Amino acid sequence: MTAEPLPEHPDFLWRNPDPKRSYDVVVVGAGGHGLATAYYLAKNHGITDVAVLEKGWLAGGNMARNTTIIRSNYLWDESAAIYEHALKLWERLPEELDYDFLFSQRGVLNLAHTLQDVREGVRRVGANRLNGVDAEWLEPDEVAKVCPILNVSPRTRYPVLGATFQPRAGIAKHDHVAWALARRADELGVDLIQGCEVTGFLKDGDRVVGVETNRGRIHAGRVGLAAAGHSSVLAERAGIRLPVQSHPLQALVSELHEPVHPTVVMSNHVHVYVSQAHKGELVMGAGVDAYNGYGQRGSFHVIEQQMAAAVELFPVFARAHVLRTWGGIVDVTPDASPVIGRTPVENLYVNCGWGTGGFKATPAAGWTFAHTIATGEPHPLNAPFALDRFTTGALIDEHGAAAVAH
Ligand SMILES: Cc1cc2nc3c(=O)[nH]c(=O)nc-3n(C[C@H](O)[C@H](O)[C@H](O)COP(=O)(O)OP(=O)(O)OC[C@H]3O[C@@H](n4cnc5c(N)ncnc54)[C@H](O)[C@@H]3O)c2cc1C
Repeated sequence: MTAEPLPEHPDFLWRNPDPKRSYDVVVVGAGGHGLATAYYLAKNHGITDVAVLEKGWLAGGNMARNTTIIRSNYLWDESAAIYEHALKLWERLPEELDYDFLFSQRGVLNLAHTLQDVREGVRRVGANRLNGVDAEWLEPDEVAKVCPILNVSPRTRYPVLGATFQPRAGIAKHDHVAWALARRADELGVDLIQGCEVTGFLKDGDRVVGVETNRGRIHAGRVGLAAAGHSSVLAERAGIRLPVQSHPLQALVSELHEPVHPTVVMSNHVHVYVSQAHKGELVMGAGVDAYNGYGQRGSFHVIEQQMAAAVELFPVFARAHVLRTWGGIVDVTPDASPVIGRTPVENLYVNCGWGTGGFKATPAAGWTFAHTIATGEPHPLNAPFALDRFTTGALIDEHGAAAVAH
């Protein structure tokens, strides 16, 4: 007797429907942001006639390629508000979605290596506290107490002069987050459609009334783009030029090690950040590759520089081996802040420009994007992140807090 084969994980968590000919809302991109948008459209606004269209497989883009760092210690009021909203949502999401995605609030250190870093860090701690974000300034001996394997000797090339510390920050298991959101969105009636690439837009005059896909035309009352590194290419098909550049961003992991690294350490100055995954891999990332590109891979010299910086900060890693490297495509705006809001084309909305740091924002991006699509108006949290700030000049410059850091 042959047993019925079990469905492969994780597809059994959601249906795999064929696309209908029409939906109230179509969301393009089934990364974390698209899935969170669909979930909150259904949960917060009762809009369940929703399709999320994904050209590849669910959460196969940046959502599965990031280094999972979550924090909210950004400089400006607007950023602190949206990232802190996300952090508060993270704190309750595992229970709400009934899915343990290993959210671990182990704290994040942002190191200072120069006087300018120190000034910027102390200023940011002050700004964070005024915004209700937990933040501390630590002197080198206090930094060593939080992370004993970090080299805080003054005799290094870039000595650690101090660090900002956000205790509530941490990491979560990214693919599980996507599956948790997908399962709940599906239960609420959302169609998650993989292998469905949006190739163009259906228009009636200046209004978008649907999308062209490799699986046929799909009509939609409203369309929301959540396509991360592909946002500008997609928007151009609707006649919009986004102020976004796409870059490769790489990361890597070591083989498994015993737990040695209790927190997350980031250094903008030497261009590396490091945490240790639950199962023991050291997870490391660096800055973007400088050129524009859509290949999901980066250059070797970036990894080489990243490793040199890591060994300098953590001499204990000298004998660790790189097990696996990978790359994603990140969409970077001129002020290192995202765009969430309306576009000049009626019924078309965009969520993009999260660059190297959008994983941490996943729930808040979904929450505010769903609100904007459902009501046609921005939520107070995303109103400052409108596209028109690049013409009004009301920029939200987060290069200091974003940069290498995530
Ligand atoms: C190496 C790396 C490390 C990172 N580390 C961190 C970190 O530690 N912390 C942090 O906060 N952020 C981090 N990020 C950034 C973060 O991953 C992104 O900002 C975030 O994932 C973007 O949102 P998303 O999950 O929806 O994107 P994605 O998962 O990329 O989703 C977009 C989806 O749109 C789909 N799509 C594109 N075009 C079309 C089309 N025409 N039709 C249909 N579907 C389409 C894509 O296939 C993709 O699945 C990192 C990114 C990388 C690459």
